[in-house]
Amino acid sequence: MSSVDTTASVGRSDDYALCPEDGFWFRPSYTEGRCPLCGEAAPGGGPPLPLLRRLDRSWLGLAGLALESLVMLALVLFLYFRA
Ligand SMILES: [Zn+2]
Repeated sequence: MSSVDTTASVGRSDDYALCPEDGFWFRPSYTEGRCPLCGEAAPGGGPPLPLLRRLDRSWLGLAGLALESLVMLALVLFLYFRA
């Protein structure tokens, strides 16, 4: 007997998956294809993650900082030689 109520979950949309172990409904795209309670893989496999979730966002942050540094360098040089 599961302690999770599954009767209220009928009619979920297609992006939800039902864990066969504990009857818990979850969205595999937010849990990396695994049940958040027991870690069981989603039935049928998880859907592919969106592009922004597949990318390592730390590299995006580093690229943003590098770009911002170049802009600040250009601004400082421009104002220095313009004066
Ligand atoms: Zn589970």
